[in-house]
Amino acid sequence: MTVRVRFAPSPTGYLHIGGARTALFNWMFARKHAGKFILRIEDTDRKRYVAGATEALMDDLRWLGLDWDEGPDIGGPFGPYVQSERSELYQEWADWLVDQGHAYRCYCTAVDLKAMREEQRANKQQIGYDRRCRYLTPEQRAAKEAQGLSHVIRFSMPLEGATVIPDKIRGDIIVNNSQVQDAVLLKSDGLPTYHLANVVDDHFMQITHILRADEWLSTAPLHLNLYAAFGWEHPVYAHLPVVLNPSGKGKLSKRTQAFDDAGHQVFVKTEEFRAGGLLPEALLNFLANVGWSFGDDVEQFTMAEACPRFELEAINPAPARLPYDKLDWLNGQYIQQMEPLALAQAVKPFLDEAGYEVNPEALLLVIPAMRVRMKRLPDAIPFLRFLFEDEAMNMDVTALTHKQMPFANAKSGYQQARDFVATTPVYDLDSISTAMLAIGARVTLNGKAGAFLGIMRLAITGQNVSPPLFESMLALGRERTLARLDEVLAVFDADPAIQ
Ligand code: GLU
Repeated sequence: MTVRVRFAPSPTGYLHIGGARTALFNWMFARKHAGKFILRIEDTDRKRYVAGATEALMDDLRWLGLDWDEGPDIGGPFGPYVQSERSELYQEWADWLVDQGHAYRCYCTAVDLKAMREEQRANKQQIGYDRRCRYLTPEQRAAKEAQGLSHVIRFSMPLEGATVIPDKIRGDIIVNNSQVQDAVLLKSDGLPTYHLANVVDDHFMQITHILRADEWLSTAPLHLNLYAAFGWEHPVYAHLPVVLNPSGKGKLSKRTQAFDDAGHQVFVKTEEFRAGGLLPEALLNFLANVGWSFGDDVEQFTMAEACPRFELEAINPAPARLPYDKLDWLNGQYIQQMEPLALAQAVKPFLDEAGYEVNPEALLLVIPAMRVRMKRLPDAIPFLRFLFEDEAMNMDVTALTHKQMPFANAKSGYQQARDFVATTPVYDLDSISTAMLAIGARVTLNGKAGAFLGIMRLAITGQNVSPPLFESMLALGRERTLARLDEVLAVFDADPAIQ
């Protein structure tokens, strides 16, 4: 048997991070078993449909690297993969259920249903459809039909007994059938409800395992009885644990805003993680840790390492907090391990957006030093600002001196550095480092270059924690370095305290 799993989002907006976790677990399961991962768009609820949402969902999944084997864009043997294009199939099977006596036409109007509920409330009865159309006599039914009343099709739920949901993660869950309503399968406009479309599609798309969010567990008794009525074998069920807010308080899945322990708002939409400068590899790693764990206390792992270890039985059914506090750490790890060229490419869109035109060579020079300090991709912006902006970086004389370098020494150091930059025949990493270390040894009181390198870095980059000085000077280029040192010297000249 080939494992076939599906991710079946409704195109109602964006890809929620909880949805991305569902997609990931399905994808991992498919990859582990060399099976198929199917993308199906469940767009039967036209009221909640948002134009462009399907494209956005696919875009986010692609960015994450969760590639599907069958889906709306690429087709496949069981297409179409968009439910609104499969209406006839649902209609046909709804009619089949009616013919077989497993479903019935219900002619109740919205007004009838409202009156029914009010009566139930007044009599302190359980609220729900009282199945009145299920018990219409053939004559009554014929009379309704003759009136040309519109109708929905409802499922005839078994009235007695219980349904066992065999769940791979939770074990058997038993629900009394009397608690399950006669759900609407086909609406009066001929379009299916989620229940009918979902079951019919899972069957005809030969889905073997349903891995979906816990919130759908309540629909499983109905779905299992639908499978039984159709005479179809049902897929294996695995309801994934609820994703909680990073604070651990409250469910994340129905919210558009979430907060961490400190009360800060955190990302919820996949596109926010992307725009915030998280790497897809890091995000997948992060999500894999929500309800599942790699084991052996390993927190960082690749998908190639994780897929073979993925087991449904190892998923913890308890609600899982989004471990937001780990996200930056994890992303930083991935950034540090990136090839300079790949990181340069990843950082480029953020620099572009900041209006910084990238010189790839200069960028590559500073990346090894930069990446060890980065947590998110936009961290590169302040770090690299000195490369892109020409105005003086730090013109505070106090900051440009040091206790090992009083004003006169500092000024002399800058002067010597300027002379070197202006006259050296070769301006490369070797010549820069040799000259700066020698100048530093001469102008500091303790004869150590460190203090000089520190204030030079501030003069050149405006930062204490920037790329190392030599690389920065090289990346900036001879002329711009010279201009910056001239500006610093002008500040010293203008300061009466050091005349
Ligand atoms: N369309 C449902 C959703 O939006 C799918 C639920 C299921 O996987 O059965 O999540």
